[in-house]
Amino acid sequence: MKVIEKIREAEAENRVVFSFEFFPPKTDDGVDNLFDRMDRMVQHNPSFCDITWGAGGTTADLTLDIANKMQNMICVETMMHLTCTNMPVEKIDHALDTIKANGIQNVLALRGDPPHGQDKFVQIEGGFACALDLVKHMRGKYGDYFGITVAGYPEAHPEVIDSSGVATLEAYQSDLAYLKKKVDAGADLIVTQLFYDTDIFLKFVNDCRQIGITCPIVPGIMPIGNYKGFMRMIGFCKTRIPAELTAALEPIKDNEEAVKKFGIDFGTEMCKKILAHGIKQLHLYTLNMDKSALAILQNLGLIDEAKISRPLPWRRPTNIYRVKEDVRPIFWANRPKSYLTRTIGWDQYPHGRWSDSGNPSYGALTDYQFMRPRSRDKKLQEEWAVPLKSVEDIHEV
Ligand code: FAD
Repeated sequence: MKVIEKIREAEAENRVVFSFEFFPPKTDDGVDNLFDRMDRMVQHNPSFCDITWGAGGTTADLTLDIANKMQNMICVETMMHLTCTNMPVEKIDHALDTIKANGIQNVLALRGDPPHGQDKFVQIEGGFACALDLVKHMRGKYGDYFGITVAGYPEAHPEVIDSSGVATLEAYQSDLAYLKKKVDAGADLIVTQLFYDTDIFLKFVNDCRQIGITCPIVPGIMPIGNYKGFMRMIGFCKTRIPAELTAALEPIKDNEEAVKKFGIDFGTEMCKKILAHGIKQLHLYTLNMDKSALAILQNLGLIDEAKISRPLPWRRPTNIYRVKEDVRPIFWANRPKSYLTRTIGWDQYPHGRWSDSGNPSYGALTDYQFMRPRSRDKKLQEEWAVPLKSVEDIHEV
């Protein structure tokens, strides 16, 4: 399902939704641990989870693999990031075709940063110049199949933020106008760059509305987990920091526990203010860690460890081709994760009595070798030819 449809559904029910971002770990062990962590976090029912595309396309294969497993093993609605850096159109299409074949419907379409060692983004031969090109390409080639999200920058893109730490009004407005072009070209959702001054975000949303951007604008919240990482990130993104945040962090910066706790409290207050302004979506940059993101959601009353429930014994599939499945052999009930992955190729085998009779490989009854001569008896054959629709039908047979 497209994330925008989930968001619209929640809006109609006046429900707040949240989502988690992850990045591809560097080691195999890291990848295994990420799935364990994701599995735990997904129990809290995020509207979607997304996986980043390594800078310069460095993690392309891993990102594709993780995205597939998120959708089909963890069974969470998955959004894959995709950048244009070092990506000729054939590679872009390979990535899009792959996720489409895996039943993924959501992409965060990005230009990406310049490759390592380069100052400016340069369009490669046969590639795209900006996210707008990618959005246009996706809509042109894949029509309505994908839900397309784009990045928004409440303080303007870092490239136009000068040494004063602020973008000029002209640069900010040109950035906004460009964002509108991405939406007009077919993006249906905006996720923002991280920020720590909630007023800047709220002004940005208002400015977007003034120029006619009507799609949901989801705030990207990165909980402060440790001081050094926080300083590195805000330096990289050129994020403005409110004076009270600097003042509060300075005395505790060497105490990791205190910084983490402060980060949870600060993140909670930011989210409370955002929600109080009628915005009903929160996107948490987890950095692959669960504690702070979950603590913020718990403080907001959006999750409750004690109330994790599953409507079915397994997690419902999110893969667009299998989303309607609600029956599973009983012995798979305890394998919520691996069922879809293990059965993904079963379509390629001749279909048996309990499978989909509409499938082209569903043969005549006599094709099945397991049928014994006595089952050719007319009555039995008739019984076998009638679809079983209810428990009563099965009982009858
Ligand atoms: P674009 O939308 O193409 O534009 C960047 C800026 O360039 C614009 O703000 C605009 O000012 C200017 N610009 C470009 N084209 C035009 C034009 N035609 N007319 C006018 N102005 C133009 N990076 C990764 O490598 N991997 C990731 O997974 C990743 N995920 C991200 C997720 C989010 C939510 C965000 C906010 C950023 C993410 N990034 C990621 C970083 C992103 O790739 C960089 O910020 C990159 O420099 C810009 O990408 P973009 O899609 O915003 O670019």
